[in-house]
Amino acid sequence: MKTMGSRPIIRVLVAVSLAGLAAVLGPGPAGASASPGGLPPEIARHFTPAEVVSGHAYMSGRYRIFAAGTALRLAILVVLVFTPASAALRSLAVRLVPAYPAIAVAVYVALLVVLVEIVTLPLGYYVGFLREHAYGLSTQTQAGWFLDRAKAALITLALAVPMGVVLSLLWRRYPGRWVLPAWGLGSAVIILLVALAPIVIDPLFNTIRPLQRPDLRERVLALAARAGIPVDQVYELDASRRTRKGNAYFTGLGHTKRIVLYDTLIAGSTPEEVELVLAHEIGHWQRAHIWKGIGLSILGLGILLWCGARTLEWAAGRGGFHLAGPADIAGLPLFLLVCSILSLASLPIQNAISRTFERQADLTSLELTQDPTDFIRAEVTLARSNLSDLDPPAPIVWLLYSHPPVAERIRMAEAFAQAPSRPQSGQPVAP
Ligand SMILES: [Zn+2]
Repeated sequence: MKTMGSRPIIRVLVAVSLAGLAAVLGPGPAGASASPGGLPPEIARHFTPAEVVSGHAYMSGRYRIFAAGTALRLAILVVLVFTPASAALRSLAVRLVPAYPAIAVAVYVALLVVLVEIVTLPLGYYVGFLREHAYGLSTQTQAGWFLDRAKAALITLALAVPMGVVLSLLWRRYPGRWVLPAWGLGSAVIILLVALAPIVIDPLFNTIRPLQRPDLRERVLALAARAGIPVDQVYELDASRRTRKGNAYFTGLGHTKRIVLYDTLIAGSTPEEVELVLAHEIGHWQRAHIWKGIGLSILGLGILLWCGARTLEWAAGRGGFHLAGPADIAGLPLFLLVCSILSLASLPIQNAISRTFERQADLTSLELTQDPTDFIRAEVTLARSNLSDLDPPAPIVWLLYSHPPVAERIRMAEAFAQAPSRPQSGQPVAP
């Protein structure tokens, strides 16, 4: 009787999940261009129609997979929240270690992580292995893929179990007042993870070594001198063991701060294009985007914790959630459900901020190199190797794009080249 009210919600969520899966398995929208007026002129100038079609086919599937994956994760949480499943999992954990409540919490969190891993494994295998091979993007063996997945699951366990235990301890020790200490601890964990990931987590998946090619090292040092920052920590990563895609990123804090280039990017680009990508990452460095990102994450964490706490207090007073009280660890899926819904709702804001950071880094790279021609070449090379959607629908950009679309980035470089205030570099913009 208690779950009467929740059954329609489960039905809706299951229906949404099935619709998401059907969308993944069904055919994509026909035609290559999402724009009613045809392709953006920048795209028509730099890419072939076949490149537009293949990028669109690859990425439109990724959008549907995002929808399916999101629906699946929400459905898992909804089932745990609105059925006695989470309470049963907690009872099982307590039966296993009746004398040690903290260890019972650890067992509960571990069971939860394993459950989510198992349910999401088929979709993960399809997206990360089968589909990447079907598009000729993956270089990974099946064993390699499963090893990566196992490592990632162990890292999740190593992080989630202690965090779950501490959270449950705070719930019991400071009922009604646990948000502030949890926020403080969570903020410290965010900063620690950003600082340590480049030297603790990343090497578990890749070999990362200082940039090898002397000609590129010289360019890096010259660029850093022009930018006025001590950029000598430039590394290359053996991405080619998994993928043919190219990429680069800026990561770490303090002594672990570094720019990392994929070996695939280095191999598939001219030195000038690599320099442009480096200058973009220096732009993130100069503008302290990592610290700004950390600040925004901490702000977001505070909002999630506060909303999660209010929801748990509200739910504890109702029978439908099978909770023994607001400090019952069986309420963790409800807490996570609130966090997931809020994160999803704020995705357009998160991505709009990210796109702003990316535009700033793009502008810095143009200012540092004064080379819009190679900026455009680098964009074109990356878009080709990564099967980018060259004409993504505007609502998809708004919702999912952390970077501006290719056409916008090319347009920015063309505008930079034509700006009257810019010193002439003598190079025309390549058609
Ligand atoms: Zn960037």
